[in-house]
Amino acid sequence: MAGTMQAYRILEWGRPPEVVDVPIPEPGPGEVVVRVAGCGLCHSDLGMMQMPREVCESLGWQVPFTLGHETAGWVAALGAGVTSCAEGDPVAVVSPSSCGECSYCIRGQDNCCPKGLAGRGYGRDGGLAEFVRVSSPRGLIRLSGLDPRTAGTLTDAGATAFHGVRRVVPRITPGGVVVVIGAGGLGSFALQYLRHLTTAQVVVIDTDATRRAVAMELGAHNAIAQIGASTAETIRAMSAGGLGADAVLDFVGTDSTIAAGIAATRAGGAFALIGAAGGKLDAAWFDALPKDGEIFTFQGSTISDAHDVIRLAEAGAIRNDVETYTFDQVGQAYRDLEAGGLRGRAVVVLDDR
Ligand SMILES: [Zn+2]
Ligand SMILES: [Zn+2]
Repeated sequence: MAGTMQAYRILEWGRPPEVVDVPIPEPGPGEVVVRVAGCGLCHSDLGMMQMPREVCESLGWQVPFTLGHETAGWVAALGAGVTSCAEGDPVAVVSPSSCGECSYCIRGQDNCCPKGLAGRGYGRDGGLAEFVRVSSPRGLIRLSGLDPRTAGTLTDAGATAFHGVRRVVPRITPGGVVVVIGAGGLGSFALQYLRHLTTAQVVVIDTDATRRAVAMELGAHNAIAQIGASTAETIRAMSAGGLGADAVLDFVGTDSTIAAGIAATRAGGAFALIGAAGGKLDAAWFDALPKDGEIFTFQGSTISDAHDVIRLAEAGAIRNDVETYTFDQVGQAYRDLEAGGLRGRAVVVLDDR
């Protein structure tokens, strides 16, 4: 395994990433090295490229590091003591990092692990390279049937959307209305989970006509373009008794989507803020918020979420739309992602090289 490989790395804060040669990682005791088949690109990568140095350093991130946190491939080398996987196993790499030992990890809330602030692709070496080192086999999910070149997106976009859906499911009643605001990468996964896990009427709100059409193809019952002061009324009119939505999942997160989403949530319903647009809600507790409602904020996903999503995909229950690029096109792939208009998640395939 000795030798060098190409990697797409942030070399210094505030400078565009570059393809450079780095040593192929060797697995230490308990570690696994994975040969990367493909790595999905995430909007948060674009944010990292411009993040102020102070923020990155406060998160414990170190430059240089290789980008990419939606990785899948094949086990290439095992560190001393690793017996739970074998060379050649096709695997997806869990996206968020966690220690496995703290009180959060023990409770299965590894998405809240304090050691997860830095991880593969954000402050540590990630998957936009020929090989990636994984600190423990608990970060690997064995694939049976899924193509490792494109399965990586399920571990981040797929799992984060799943976490949000899993949180709201207890508030969803048979035949109730569930609203998905934003039918991009995460929202289009969320609506598919809702169709499989509940009997709710799934209403998608997106200003983009193409995304609305795709949402209907993926199983949404309704797709509307309108978001604003009258949204709540529209949603109430669709719900039994005019009560409003059992749950609203906001994958956008602006002031207006939050206000409209909260207003559309029925008493006893749930509102999930997952989109990272940085919106705020100015609301008095009595009239503006749903009585006995549950409101929760973005918290990534757990290892168990990623396992469940991979199993749903293997069962053929969800569609994972991707647009593939070669490693030589990684810069272009990020430019396309930034420009918007991609039909599926951008994935850099390394195995074709
Ligand atoms: Zn991401
Ligand atoms: Zn932990």
